[in-house]
Amino acid sequence: MLRVTRSIPGPPILESARARLEQDQLRRAVERGQDAALADRRVWAGDKTVRTALNELFAGKCAYCETPIIDSGEGTIEHFRPVRRAIDADGSISSHHYWWLANEWTNLLLSCMICSRNKGNRFPVTGPRAEFGENLAEEAALLLNPCEDDPNAHLTFVSDGLVVGDTERGRATIETLALNREALIRARREQAAALFTRVEALGANSDLVRQMLDPGAPFAAMCRQVLYSQPTAHRSQLRDSATSTSLPANRTIASCRAARQWARPRNDATTVRRNGSNGSC
Ligand SMILES: [Zn+2]
Repeated sequence: MLRVTRSIPGPPILESARARLEQDQLRRAVERGQDAALADRRVWAGDKTVRTALNELFAGKCAYCETPIIDSGEGTIEHFRPVRRAIDADGSISSHHYWWLANEWTNLLLSCMICSRNKGNRFPVTGPRAEFGENLAEEAALLLNPCEDDPNAHLTFVSDGLVVGDTERGRATIETLALNREALIRARREQAAALFTRVEALGANSDLVRQMLDPGAPFAAMCRQVLYSQPTAHRSQLRDSATSTSLPANRTIASCRAARQWARPRNDATTVRRNGSNGSC
């Protein structure tokens, strides 16, 4: 997960008269206890501007796992906060949360189908769940939002493909989205191996290495962390680990955190504008 600045304004359709009418209908339906009947309505259904804007904002990658979404049919527009039947960590359901965010630009992300399916309506909070009109920040969401949080403060990526949660929020995000699913571990490990190969052959400042750190590159958050957090003497070993054909077994959180002690400040990472998006690590 890479931090992304929401630098692109929401498409006009989200603020249109039709959108306001839909929100009014939703509010009245919820007041009558009929939230489920209308919650599936989306003013932007059939409109391509929202998807286009999200593609640009997230550089065509899943906002959660950074898998490239190459085909327009592969990804989906994701509500960070579900628009109905939000599920808490204990399985309890809040039926009317968060109907008022159905067309809210800041609640929309681009997601791969797997992350979206894994997350579903799960949205655990540690504070009181915010009601309509209340401050969302005060409910203390457990899931990380790449547009609002700094994933580096919560997640440690290691070169064998695993990601480890350094905080409760990091662990909840990994568990909810299944960020350590086998296919993702393999894909990240292969990307790390390609990164180390380029670094050793061309140097860390080569253009080909910088391409892999670009916000638009697959798994850029992991590439930045593993490149900047590992001492040079360890890179060959890490490359061997990254090119291993077996999945990592029983890597401990302690060992991952030990690797993190080598990390240098993240704000020295190159920030590159790509297709109008503005990502930062
Ligand atoms: Zn994903």
